[in-house]
Amino acid sequence: MGLIVENSRVGAPEQKLYRLVFESEAARTAQPGQFVHIRVTAAAAPLLRRPLSIAAIDAARGRLTVYYRLKGQGTELLSQKRPGEKLDFLGPLGRGFTVPAAGELLLIAGGVGVFPLLSLGEEAGRRGIPSVLLWGGENRAFFAAAAAVAEHIPVRRLATADGSFGDRGRVTDLLTSVLAPPAGRTPC
Ligand SMILES: Cc1cc2nc3c(=O)[nH]c(=O)nc-3n(C[C@H](O)[C@H](O)[C@H](O)COP(=O)(O)OP(=O)(O)OC[C@H]3O[C@@H](n4cnc5c(N)ncnc54)[C@H](O)[C@@H]3O)c2cc1C
Repeated sequence: MGLIVENSRVGAPEQKLYRLVFESEAARTAQPGQFVHIRVTAAAAPLLRRPLSIAAIDAARGRLTVYYRLKGQGTELLSQKRPGEKLDFLGPLGRGFTVPAAGELLLIAGGVGVFPLLSLGEEAGRRGIPSVLLWGGENRAFFAAAAAVAEHIPVRRLATADGSFGDRGRVTDLLTSVLAPPAGRTPC
């Protein structure tokens, strides 16, 4: 069981994005890339737990943060939970990412797929490994809501499908331009 510290909407209501912070011993062992499996109700339905990626790990204070988008009944019920309530979850689950010992991390995400990469970027930063986040989203409104989410990853390039913010196109287009060799050089 965790204890909910915060469960609040992030950004404009139409983005349907929420941040959930809870206290748990699991924060002492969680690794970037792992997830928690949350039981959103004590009632019989919805029966299945909902998986959410661990976006931030505060081992010192024993807190985990997840971000979620309202999708259906499960996330809707989760959004109704209040600080001070208990959180029934399993975790941390899954295999975490390996943080490299040297070099630079190139993190690539589309939309809410960024969440599991946030804790990786944070942990890499703690170990002196810089990260660059390439992040694609639907439009400017998405990033207006989500900007604070990735604030601890300093260098990033953004792309929107409609060109309303950052580069126009997909995040894979950003990747192509980042990987392109400097003018005058051919790739090996
Ligand atoms: C490992 C993992 C990590 C995830 N991390 C995040 C995250 O950090 N933030 C975020 O917003 N979303 C994340 N998701 C997606 C999130 O779990 C779903 O959006 C959520 O379960 C939807 O539940 P719902 O009841 O609101 O919607 P529903 O209408 O019930 O479901 C919407 C979709 O979610 C799928 N789903 C529901 N329950 C499960 C389950 N127990 N296992 C697998 N799929 C399920 C359904 O098949 C359906 O396709 C993650 C999913 C996985 C598998």
